[in-house]
Amino acid sequence: MAEAVYQQCIDARCGATYGIEQVLAACPACGDLLDVRYDWDRLPVPDSLRAFESRWASRDRPLDFSGVWRFRELLNFCDDRHKVTLGEGQTICQPNPAVAEYAGAARDGLFLQYEGLNPSGSFKDNGMVAAFSHARMVGARRVACASTGNTSASMALYAAHTGMQAIVFVGAGRIAFGKMAQALDYGAHTLEIEGDFDACMRQVKLAAERCGLYLMNSVNPFRLEGQKAIMYRVLEALHWEVPDWIIVPGGNLGNSSAFGKAFAELKELGLIDRIPRLAVINSTGADTLDRLVNQKHLTFNAGSYDRQAIAEDWQWQDQTERRASTIASAIEIARPVNAAKCLRALEVCNGVVRAVPDSEIMDAKAQVGRCGLGCEPASAASVAGLRRLIAEGVVGRNQRVVCVLTGHPLKDPDATVGYHTGRYKPGKDARGPRTFANRPVRVVDDIEQICQAIEGLGAGQ
Ligand SMILES: *Cc1c(COP(=O)(O)O)cnc(C)c1O
Ligand SMILES: [Zn+2]
Repeated sequence: MAEAVYQQCIDARCGATYGIEQVLAACPACGDLLDVRYDWDRLPVPDSLRAFESRWASRDRPLDFSGVWRFRELLNFCDDRHKVTLGEGQTICQPNPAVAEYAGAARDGLFLQYEGLNPSGSFKDNGMVAAFSHARMVGARRVACASTGNTSASMALYAAHTGMQAIVFVGAGRIAFGKMAQALDYGAHTLEIEGDFDACMRQVKLAAERCGLYLMNSVNPFRLEGQKAIMYRVLEALHWEVPDWIIVPGGNLGNSSAFGKAFAELKELGLIDRIPRLAVINSTGADTLDRLVNQKHLTFNAGSYDRQAIAEDWQWQDQTERRASTIASAIEIARPVNAAKCLRALEVCNGVVRAVPDSEIMDAKAQVGRCGLGCEPASAASVAGLRRLIAEGVVGRNQRVVCVLTGHPLKDPDATVGYHTGRYKPGKDARGPRTFANRPVRVVDDIEQICQAIEGLGAGQ
């Protein structure tokens, strides 16, 4: 009899299945991505999402407290004794009238899902607890990832927590200091590869195979299981009402892929009656998905998608020496490993893709900060994307929208200080008007002049 939980190749023409005890970064038969799949009829699943609310009453139990594991029936691949948690997922999803106004939405129509509140300061923790639980289940001792920063910060944290050895691959000089600080502080062995993220990704896959490292990048299907929980918490915050749109920045496309899978499964289980639309936002400096979808019109085609077209795009990038370059370093990725899964999510969610320039990302980021939350540059791509989509009339002004703010503002202080002061680190110039720059005022060490400077500020709001 087949297992109730298994791994399966996403390409419908292959569809090969594997046990969940196997550690695989790709389908051994055809090289495509793998999914974790469930035979729901043989697993305990609540008949209403409301049933999860009972876990609020037992928050003293770590698995009920976790914003991932309190939905554990929806990612039911391991025993409780293997589950890893540091209390991730204590996030908020709140309306933000001021950011809504900036984006052109109705004042009560925009919700911000703030993932900066996670233990390592980004949404990556949602996925990491799931992947680390799988790693424990299979007895892994050493974990590795390529990272633009947040994956390494999160992996390093959970490796320290579980006592595993962490090896991170980062592009030399390409990682924001807040994130680098975390990897080092949590004790990860940090390899600064002389190359960009895409180079790191290529090398870590090879190294994982050769040296027997457990790979923590989002090609790991177990990681994406954890990231589904972000959408469960969004629904929970909206009293289980499905919003009209989910808007998320797109880098390696793990998050968007996980969201699509979450909604497809909830619909299949009859736990929601409709699926929200999804918008994935690239930076124009790292716009591979935008090109594949909007120029090459690639679709998932129910699992029989055009793999050759993606390979050709990668070849074209090689030939033209095209590289990703954006101040939003978390999405500075030219060869998103989850491109195919993201195409599937776009199909499931009737989704759209846009690319927004760094100047709009940084202006949106300044608005998110000024309106009382703050986020790192990549996160603000969601708000900048929403603003575009409303201007285009794709998102209606009165629709209910959730923008995912993927990471904490302290992750990348250089980008923020650069924007407000104009003093960028070399190579980090976002250019553009810096519309909301909040310039510091320099004053001599003299109380008269200090008071004059304060008078000069006006009465404030
Ligand atoms: C990783 C990351 C992203 C990109 O997410 P993907 O799942 O790779 O598309 C966006 N923002 C932040 C802050 C991140 O850390
Ligand atoms: Zn396959």
